[in-house]
Amino acid sequence: MRTQRQVVDYSLQKRAVLRELLAGRVGTYDVCDASPYLKNAARFHGEPTDRRCPICRSENLTLVHYIYGDELKQSAGQARTLTELPVLAMTLREFQVFVVEVCLGCDWNHLVEQYLLGRDGLTGDSDGTGEQSVAAADGAGRRRREAQR
Ligand SMILES: [Zn+2]
Repeated sequence: MRTQRQVVDYSLQKRAVLRELLAGRVGTYDVCDASPYLKNAARFHGEPTDRRCPICRSENLTLVHYIYGDELKQSAGQARTLTELPVLAMTLREFQVFVVEVCLGCDWNHLVEQYLLGRDGLTGDSDGTGEQSVAAADGAGRRRREAQR
């Protein structure tokens, strides 16, 4: 997405968890603990992938996008479909997106990445203020000429 910025990738943390699991230091109960809310979000707003679940290897992972930010008001903390994000990014200045991968088969879930979206990331914004200052300078020039008369 065009306005995506301050991306934080959690794949290292995920690999660490999977390593702990392989080594037997954590159990599948500890990592396969998706809440009913998360699973519902995955079913209704999730983005299907063609990547297999690293735990059960029988289901494909679903990505859930959670949005946070003051401008979202009561929508903060809700899951949104991937197609809704660009629309929000055009209307809001800034909001945070958390991407969680979920397996609906074994309840594995892990934070994949987080990033900022919103109009603040568009370079076009500075053009707008540029035009305004030109107009303001014009006005000042006109006033000066009027004063000289
Ligand atoms: Zn699974």
